[in-house]
Amino acid sequence: MSQIEELQAKVSAKFSEIYAKYPKEMKCAEGCHSCCKPGISVSRLEAKLIQTLLPERRDLLDQLAKENPHKGKRCAFLDKEGACTIYAVRPVICRSHGAPIQYRDPQSKDFEKAQRFRDVCTLNFTSKPLQDLPLDDIFNIDTVNTLLSLLQTQSFGKADVERFPLTVDGIAQA
Ligand code: SF4
Ligand code: SF4
Repeated sequence: MSQIEELQAKVSAKFSEIYAKYPKEMKCAEGCHSCCKPGISVSRLEAKLIQTLLPERRDLLDQLAKENPHKGKRCAFLDKEGACTIYAVRPVICRSHGAPIQYRDPQSKDFEKAQRFRDVCTLNFTSKPLQDLPLDDIFNIDTVNTLLSLLQTQSFGKADVERFPLTVDGIAQA
């Protein structure tokens, strides 16, 4: 397993852990997909991984593009039943989505004193305030992004910061 696959697997495992711990607060389920919006982009590293699955999904994706069941309002990889056609290689952003996240104020230059914000899908944690959650039950998005960026740099160098749209054509460009 490559390092990026290991990171993705760890993010998925953490998501499952949080999901199991807060069954009443987590509404994520098959068919719920308002988070699968168009406009998501990924690094070359994650795009290359998605490319590995595209040949075997070709017919399905061509059909999906033709039918356009979500009228362009959802990710191009979401099928008409609301399932992800690239589930096994979906990027980190899709694996953490739905779980509570914490991130540093991006405007702050002071790492230590920067304000920390918490956020979650509006369908989840409707009865439990995020501020009450222990740090262990929250994705630290800054840490996840740093790890992603390190792996991307290791593979393609510091200068490669290009992002690729999460679409068949966008991923093919990576
Ligand atoms: S890649 Fe899959 S999980 Fe991610 S936004 Fe697209 S359909 Fe949703
Ligand atoms: S993140 Fe929100 S919209 Fe997406 S599956 Fe979970 S509950 Fe549904």
